[in-house]
Amino acid sequence: MVIKPKVRGFICTNAHPVGCAKSVEEQIAYVKSKGDLGAGPKNVLVVGSSTGYGLASRITSAFGYGANTLGVCFEKAPTERKTGTAGWYNTAAFHDQAKAEGVYAQTINGDAFSDEIKHQAIEKIKADMGKVDLVIYSLASPRRTDPETGVTYKSTLKPVGQAYTTKTYDTDKDKVHEVSLEPANDDEILNTIKVMGGEDWERWMDFLRDAGVLAEGCKTTAYTYIGKELTWPIYGQATIGKAKEDLDRAAAAIIGKNSDLLVQANVSSLKALVTQASSAIPVMPLYISLIYKVMKEEGTHEGCIEQIYGLFSQCLFGNSATLDEANRYRMDGKETNDATQAKIKVLWDQVTQENFHELSDYEGYHHEFLKLFGFDIDGVDYEQDLDPMVSW
Ligand code: NAD
Repeated sequence: MVIKPKVRGFICTNAHPVGCAKSVEEQIAYVKSKGDLGAGPKNVLVVGSSTGYGLASRITSAFGYGANTLGVCFEKAPTERKTGTAGWYNTAAFHDQAKAEGVYAQTINGDAFSDEIKHQAIEKIKADMGKVDLVIYSLASPRRTDPETGVTYKSTLKPVGQAYTTKTYDTDKDKVHEVSLEPANDDEILNTIKVMGGEDWERWMDFLRDAGVLAEGCKTTAYTYIGKELTWPIYGQATIGKAKEDLDRAAAAIIGKNSDLLVQANVSSLKALVTQASSAIPVMPLYISLIYKVMKEEGTHEGCIEQIYGLFSQCLFGNSATLDEANRYRMDGKETNDATQAKIKVLWDQVTQENFHELSDYEGYHHEFLKLFGFDIDGVDYEQDLDPMVSW
């Protein structure tokens, strides 16, 4: 099969196995280039391990610290006629590299919100790892079925309190235009908290604790985006932001319930960048195209692996953590500082359909978007006839 990108709106419906492998290898090489990272985790569970920030966390654990990793993700396997998802191919590439270096890696592909997958993970930990000393929670999902009630909740991306009109960029039509977003009702806010809030993170930690597989001093973190004024109406102070606030509640609850084990639970705030999750959020493609421009000019641009390497080496396993008033690790300072935000705001106010490509780094955004699916990567032969049936 010759595999070319099939982009539909904010998603690409296929993926390139060789390109995905190359991008995983690049991330591994980045972490290795940092040399000896010192003391770190030994047995790591990554929930949401196949793409974006979760994959970078798994790579940093395994290739930065030599840790055993158990990943949980929800990806589609390839068939003879259809490619697998990018996360599938990323995971296969990760396993290849881990095997080559003798680093333990296992992956469970299934719904992390379900109790069944939690039990499967516990069985694997008991059999192969004993206990875990780091749990990364990096799920991004539009829906969740509550295992206690069987009710499926769907998240929405809407402002809270009042309607909001702003600029957005339609990646499909290459058009900057105004978008008016109606405020969410109470039910929509509640639904979003059910999906993207802290309930499932807490449930994972409860299950792990009850099964006796949490090591003393175990660390756990869940990822959030806080942002600044430009994104608050659609993110920080919107439905998704309400869900993310619930992570702070969950972190405190996890610490409280596991005080005998001295478990450390912190939310980590990361910068905005192109992932499958962020491409789906209105306004974000425009905002990210502008911050890429500004941050590349400032020399502060970072991707998933740079952010996560920083989080591990400075905060989780280092001694230069920046913690905010809510006990969150802050890795987003290079984006959210006032000087950088002021430059982005100038561009934001000026940007129109006519000058969008000149003022923004849309080329950079689009390249990163295609790269998520293994496309537009130097050194990959996209004319090659490939077997999509890759597994791990
Ligand atoms: P992503 O879409 O790249 O990754 C999501 C991961 O979750 C994948 O591994 C996917 O397989 C897994 N997943 C989704 N539903 C699942 C399910 N039901 N069961 C098992 N696995 C499932 O997303 P991302 O951008 O890396 O986001 C990860 C976290 O980081 C999210 O909490 C997000 O809010 C946060 N974050 C993202 C950004 C950003 O700009 N992308 C910034 C800050 C924080």
